[in-house]
Amino acid sequence: MPIDATRPYDDDNIFAKILRGEIPSKAVYEDEYAFAFHDINPQAPTHILVIPKGRYVSWDDFSANADDAEIGGFVRAVGTVARDAGLVEPGYRLLANTGPDSHQEVAHLHVHIFAGRQLGPMLA
Ligand code: C5P
Repeated sequence: MPIDATRPYDDDNIFAKILRGEIPSKAVYEDEYAFAFHDINPQAPTHILVIPKGRYVSWDDFSANADDAEIGGFVRAVGTVARDAGLVEPGYRLLANTGPDSHQEVAHLHVHIFAGRQLGPMLA
């Protein structure tokens, strides 16, 4: 179910549990600002989720409220994950669903990385 991304952060959301190690995940990267793992239901041959370590519901929450170090560290981590996975050539797609109309389902900011096949046109 899409979530209300304007609500306060819920420490019981599933990605908070993954960050705390209470739920297993197939981790690919971790640093001070970010954690990345394979999506449990991949929509492309490579489908990785990158999440900030901080408590942010959505891209909107993060971009408005995270400090510059968190934003810089997270953006750099997304690029590092893609680069380390060898995705720069032939390319990849980033997606951050934000709010109910976007079908955001988990109330902790996550950036999807899709790659590994010719991706179709963007959905509108
Ligand atoms: O952007 P959206 O919120 O819809 O994406 C949530 C993503 O989290 C889905 O792609 C889903 O497969 C993934 N997921 C996961 N592990 C979980 C629960 C959800 O990888 N335990």
